[in-house]
Amino acid sequence: ATPTPTPTPLLLALPFLFAALAAAQSRPFGALAGAPPGYERYVADATATGAEEEYDYIVVGGGAAGCPLAATLAGPGGGRVLLLERGGAPAEFPALATAGGFVRTLALADPSPDSDAPAQAFSSEDGVPNVRARVLGGGTAINAGFYSRAHPGWFHGHGEGAEVPDWDMRLVNSSYEWVEQELTFQPEVHGWQAAVRAALLEANVTPWNGFTVEHVTGTKIGATTFDASGRRHSAADLLAFARPGRLHVAVRAAVTRVIINPIDPAARRGRSRPAVAAVGVVYQDRLFQLHHALLRPGGEVILSAGTLGSPQLLLLSGVGPANDLTSLGIPVSVDAPDVGKHMFDNPRNGISIIPSVPIDHSLIQVVGIPSANGTASYLEAASYIVPVSPMLRPAGPFISPTSPLYVTMATIMEKVPGPLSEGSLWLSSPNPVETPSVRFNYFSRPEDLAQCVVGVRRVAQVLQSRTMDIFRSSVGSASQGRRGHARRDFRIVGATLPLDWSTNNTSVADFCRRTVATLWHYHGGCVVGRVVDKDFRVMGTQSLRVVDGSTFSVTPGTNPQATVMMMGRYMGLKMIAERHSRRQVNTSSYNELEE
Ligand code: FAD
Repeated sequence: ATPTPTPTPLLLALPFLFAALAAAQSRPFGALAGAPPGYERYVADATATGAEEEYDYIVVGGGAAGCPLAATLAGPGGGRVLLLERGGAPAEFPALATAGGFVRTLALADPSPDSDAPAQAFSSEDGVPNVRARVLGGGTAINAGFYSRAHPGWFHGHGEGAEVPDWDMRLVNSSYEWVEQELTFQPEVHGWQAAVRAALLEANVTPWNGFTVEHVTGTKIGATTFDASGRRHSAADLLAFARPGRLHVAVRAAVTRVIINPIDPAARRGRSRPAVAAVGVVYQDRLFQLHHALLRPGGEVILSAGTLGSPQLLLLSGVGPANDLTSLGIPVSVDAPDVGKHMFDNPRNGISIIPSVPIDHSLIQVVGIPSANGTASYLEAASYIVPVSPMLRPAGPFISPTSPLYVTMATIMEKVPGPLSEGSLWLSSPNPVETPSVRFNYFSRPEDLAQCVVGVRRVAQVLQSRTMDIFRSSVGSASQGRRGHARRDFRIVGATLPLDWSTNNTSVADFCRRTVATLWHYHGGCVVGRVVDKDFRVMGTQSLRVVDGSTFSVTPGTNPQATVMMMGRYMGLKMIAERHSRRQVNTSSYNELEE
């Protein structure tokens, strides 16, 4: 029972499904949205902020890392904080509030720098469509909500001689817990997710680990940021932890550059110390007015603009490969050849079917981890209900133009962990609101392709399990099948596996290359040891750090958001402790700050 193609008109109609989705009316999401998250009192449109103001910390990018970081820096022991986010607030976009809005948000992703859509579409130079967040909460406001910690080995580094932050594991764990108490829930698993759980176990992805946020070998249920009523909780909710009066959040504030000045030689202690320092940022509001935010003495600018945004801003600020910057007419502040280099994306490949029995909508809840050290592809699944009615309306007199028709698709996918294939990012224009160009060079390293081949075979084994039989449809006539029954097979949407998938590496490798997609876990560009040091300070500068997924050379665990949010909290506490130790105030214990 190899998964084989079943001709279906819906297969041909797939591009229309998404167009139909875009045309569909929004459901009453607002009714489910519940009470305001409590941080809204800190948020203002950038047009309402001053032309020039001073802060202890300026955080650029209100995403998975930026929100917990800003909230912590504006919490106990912290200072006056400005958080600048180029997008709007999540409450403005009802589809973000529920799991059901996930597909709709992606279908409406808009590449234009002038659009307000919370998901910004882009295509890498590899030709793989992708999205990036453009909203307060960042990826956590538009993502699939699956929450799982990094595997412990991730904190010890990747590869021989690779530089590693000196992670304080006690603080790592308490920072994870801080995030989890506010944002995570145990999902109720049924339908497609329950079937995939049973099928993974049948395919020997064992043991069964039940519900856990830890990264453990076998099959498990992870946490989710959607609560029991299906309402999304995002990193923006964490902003409520700031002390009133300390945190200022400006939305629709697109930072155009970091202001980097030479350090007065008299104040520079030693020739080995950086010769330049960040003193503030310039940002643009939606009316194209420019604002300046400046640092108070001892303050810091922290870039948390994500994997595309942070390297882009360093380049626009003159921190990057000198020749590239000069050719774009950008004055060089620091010749930093690795900015925008070492860009990675985890290839995703999978099989989608139209199941023969109705199933519910489900985002990722169950994950298969065939080996805990991150060497084998992870397996995840989702099911979507998508409307097709606009396409079918002309089909007959009994279909009313107002009665929607929905079809369910279910997917099982594998994601190559820590890919070795790497690419780069570069400025395609000096315009700060344009997405930079990026190439990930998927499968340029044979090791990644070999992992994909093994992962895709596991997907096929999961589909072959007895549990999955219920989702097969009858095909052909009874006389064609065995024992007088019609043959049952999967109605596959999109690419099908080669018939010889179990024996032919070349044909499966070809499937991997042809069907490569993203799981949106791209990372790199400001990698530790190359662009930032172990404390996430930009090398060659003072008062400037990068704290977000762009610093990773390997993405943590099965899915990164847990660790990116943990990192925001962790670095906030570290930075406050450092600032106090510089001032020699006795706050040696993080407990005081974690109150
Ligand atoms: P982001 O969260 O992207 O934050 C960067 C922020 O900076 C954005 O809000 C952006 O608008 C802002 N910004 C950028 N440039 C500027 C500028 N010049 N000025 C001002 N602001 C700027 N991970 C999981 O663990 N589980 C999942 O289920 C999951 N599903 C995903 C589904 C999708 C569709 C996507 C896109 C991602 C998903 N992820 C998931 C990945 C996860 O959301 C990201 O890894 C994480 O959000 C990265 O965090 P970050 O802080 O590095 O960047």
